[in-house]
Amino acid sequence: MIIDLRSDTVTKPTKGMLEAMITAKVGDDVYKEDPSVNALEQRLADMFGKDQALFFPTGSMANQAALKLHTNPGEQVICDKYAHIYNYEGGGASFNSGISCKLIDGNRGMFTAQQVAESINPPDFYHSPLTSLVEVENTTNKGGGACWDFEELKRIKAVCDKHNLGYHLDGARLWNALANTNETTKDYGQLFDTISVCLSKGLGCPMGSVLIGDEDIMQGAIRIRKILGGGMRQVGYIAATGLYALDHHLDRLVEDQKKAKAIGKVLEDMSIIKKVEPIETNIVIFELESHVDESEFLKQLSDKNIYIIGMGSNKLRMVTHLDYTDVMHDQLLEVLNNF
Ligand SMILES: *Cc1c(COP(=O)(O)O)cnc(C)c1O
Repeated sequence: MIIDLRSDTVTKPTKGMLEAMITAKVGDDVYKEDPSVNALEQRLADMFGKDQALFFPTGSMANQAALKLHTNPGEQVICDKYAHIYNYEGGGASFNSGISCKLIDGNRGMFTAQQVAESINPPDFYHSPLTSLVEVENTTNKGGGACWDFEELKRIKAVCDKHNLGYHLDGARLWNALANTNETTKDYGQLFDTISVCLSKGLGCPMGSVLIGDEDIMQGAIRIRKILGGGMRQVGYIAATGLYALDHHLDRLVEDQKKAKAIGKVLEDMSIIKKVEPIETNIVIFELESHVDESEFLKQLSDKNIYIIGMGSNKLRMVTHLDYTDVMHDQLLEVLNNF
């Protein structure tokens, strides 16, 4: 038995999901003739109360398209220093859109409306880049699965409105935030101009992300997707996994979060561990005591077929997911308890 907690992207399609793929009705999605893709896009647009949605092969491409839709070359996006668009999309913001990032020094990937207001360059001061977009991530990845306070997101929206800025949500793990808080998809749809969501993380699909927004902003999205090389043909076989996951894998996310919290409890009692970050969703980030050798710790776990990931500076990460079973969970807790 291999216990792989490196990421929630390691899941494989379930039997039911494979069945949904085999029986999917498909067509050429570049001509918008794939009924499964069209159904998935319509369903997500409706869920968020927006006009349109567009299927993308990856979350990075959906975010990159959003950046392009909201900005012109030379302009600036405000985001946290931990943001995925800044740290983990290969420099795409500058490569694809010719924009720079104004980084906020936030808390676990989150910041305040006040910090946003202070980061906006005065539009008539032509020496500095024109601020055109604010981007937030929920849950935060590098911030350890933290969930935003919705009231703060509303206050940031007010700042965006006042200064005529776009507002994009990287909701790769928004599903985990929704499972943990009282807000609905429609609440998020009302607040943001564009939202990207991943199907390939908590929901357990093999690939796929969707960008959601109203018609005025989304009308250019399909061209940008084509330019980025993201126009796909009979991709309904994949969209069918998304439809299946929305029916079957949303409600179970609370299970992942329960398990993450239980892992955190055990880690907190281990003498070799200095600190466990607060656990809100399915991500556990913890720091080893400085005298503990990280690679030795990782090796002792991998000798027991347990795989987790190092994040540098003696910090490590575990992510719970659909393929992390109750049996694996018991086994992991036993190994940690006896470490
Ligand atoms: C995973 C992730 C993405 C998208 O990643 P892809 O691997 O390109 O699908 C975007 N934002 C966040 C916060 C993520 O965790």
